[in-house]
Amino acid sequence: MEGAAAAAQLPPLERLEGLRVYPGDPLCTIEEFAPGDGVYVDEKGIVRAAVVGVVRVDYTSRRIWVEPAPLKPRMPRKGRSVYAHVYGVPREDLALARIFADERMVPYNGYFNGVIHISQASDRMLKSIYEAVKPGDIVKASVLSPQPPYMLSLKKPQDGVVLAFCSRCGSPLYRVPGRPLLVCLKCGNEEQRKVSPNYLLTVRRR
Ligand SMILES: [Zn+2]
Repeated sequence: MEGAAAAAQLPPLERLEGLRVYPGDPLCTIEEFAPGDGVYVDEKGIVRAAVVGVVRVDYTSRRIWVEPAPLKPRMPRKGRSVYAHVYGVPREDLALARIFADERMVPYNGYFNGVIHISQASDRMLKSIYEAVKPGDIVKASVLSPQPPYMLSLKKPQDGVVLAFCSRCGSPLYRVPGRPLLVCLKCGNEEQRKVSPNYLLTVRRR
């Protein structure tokens, strides 16, 4: 087994305990320690890590296993941008949103609760939050607080609504270059939002 051990570049036995490993990393030979959880034995009798984690060794029972590293769940981070779906306006000064993706539009594993206060809904003073967002809108927002419910802001130039729907007929609204309001191409309705420059739908000028 010496040959196989040398070929696999095994770490010194005394350094195994506490070693951070990745799947496939060689740990020892099967003669040295009996495999427990989080490891596997290859065809040459080398015990290898099966998961990302930390090596644990019991020198008395001569067992080795890998404790999986707790996977850090991806979460919204303060100061970063996220995408959120506005689903409710319980008061004229407050909108509720479900954060569903990070700034690269990579979806989170589930939703996080977000809150947009009227003071953070626009770079202008508003009388009602409806002047900036409405339920159904998808917004790009900056995260202001470190934990849920996340306080969100649309104040920055790049933040705001990226997709909105007509309050009358439900069709998607379009941005018209040079015009402040979003337009429904189906029913002609015009609506105000705090629009992000990343708004998805734009009408071409004829
Ligand atoms: Zn419409």
